[in-house]
Amino acid sequence: MSTSIEDKLYTLTFKPDKESHLVPNQDLCRQCADKPCLNFCPAHVYSWEGDHLAVAFEGCVECGACRIGCPYHSIAWRYPRGGFGVMYKFG
Ligand code: SF4
Ligand code: SF4
Repeated sequence: MSTSIEDKLYTLTFKPDKESHLVPNQDLCRQCADKPCLNFCPAHVYSWEGDHLAVAFEGCVECGACRIGCPYHSIAWRYPRGGFGVMYKFG
C-alpha cells in the first residue's frame, strides 16, 4: 500500500514561529496571472484570498520549491529561526 504525500506530511512535527519566514511581495503576486505557487507547494501553504496571497507558513516543510518556482521571485525566503519550523525524524 502506498502512502500519500498528505499522509507523510501528517506525520511531521511542527513548531511554528509567531512570524512568517515566507514573505511574498503582494504587488507582484497581484499581477501574477497563473499563480503557480498555489499548485507547486506540496504543503498547500499558499492560497489566494481575493486580493492577496495568504501564507499558511506554519505548514511549510522547507522544501525550497517556492524559491525557484515563483516566476517573479516574489517570496522572500529564509529558514525559520533556530528551533522553529518543521522537524524531520530520521531513521
Ligand atoms: S507564483 Fe510567485 S508571484 Fe505568483 S502568486 Fe505565487 S508567490 Fe506570488
Ligand atoms: S518551501 Fe516548500 S513547503 Fe514551504 S512554502 Fe515553499 S514550496 Fe511550500
